[in-house]
Amino acid sequence: MSSEIRLLSIDFDGTLVSRVSEPVLDERCMQLIRDLQEGGVLFSINTGRSVDLLESGLTDFEFPVRPDFILTTEREVFRPANNGEKWEPFGDWNERCARDHAELFSSAQSILAEVVDFVTRKTKAQLIYHSQELEGLRAESDQEMDRIVEFIEGARMKEPKFNYQRNTIYLRFCHADYHKGAALAELARLIDIPRENIFAAGDHHNDISMLNGQVAAMPACPANAIEEVKAAVREAGGYVAKREHGAGVHEALKHFLNGSGD
Ligand SMILES: [Mg+2]
Repeated sequence: MSSEIRLLSIDFDGTLVSRVSEPVLDERCMQLIRDLQEGGVLFSINTGRSVDLLESGLTDFEFPVRPDFILTTEREVFRPANNGEKWEPFGDWNERCARDHAELFSSAQSILAEVVDFVTRKTKAQLIYHSQELEGLRAESDQEMDRIVEFIEGARMKEPKFNYQRNTIYLRFCHADYHKGAALAELARLIDIPRENIFAAGDHHNDISMLNGQVAAMPACPANAIEEVKAAVREAGGYVAKREHGAGVHEALKHFLNGSGD
């Protein structure tokens, strides 16, 4: 049984965009996404970036395709706005998301305090604040991030809804019910596209929730993805590309378009 692709959910940095090699964008990948869009496929970028940082990325890299939807900060869902703004919240998801996070962070204050204490005393990581609220942190290395994550795993046992999204040396605190997979599921629900018709691609820890087969039946990753991502994609019967970044996304799309998406 081959499935038709109707919705794309693709990570930005490290997946569509290479930050470490040239070309930054794979031309054939961009062209294929544009062709699919013209054929009615909906294209969403599912990223850890905020709306503003994604927009500046799209501008900086002269991104040649306009996404139909953007899923930002690993949890929010936006559609194009018609009031002069570029994007507007799609449905009430973002509102619920903000409320759940406000509640969580107030009930998890002691855990956050423990994490801050550990990070400050035992690591060189930098805490990241957003309008005076602690949003996450930036480690000095993957090894340092491993130690921090181990500490958080212990601390969050008291409050299992307190979780985090890890992406390279960056980490963002979050509510366990919100992640890229949940945002994608909400978008799919809003536009009524079933799991069977969804392609998703990503390269890092924070992408696993959309690549484990639960939300998208066609998960994929480029060759530069970390081992944990490759394992999740394989486990879900997805496609691990031989090529890196956008070239790998192109390869994976071709794989599923050619009817290998059994
Ligand atoms: Mg990435």
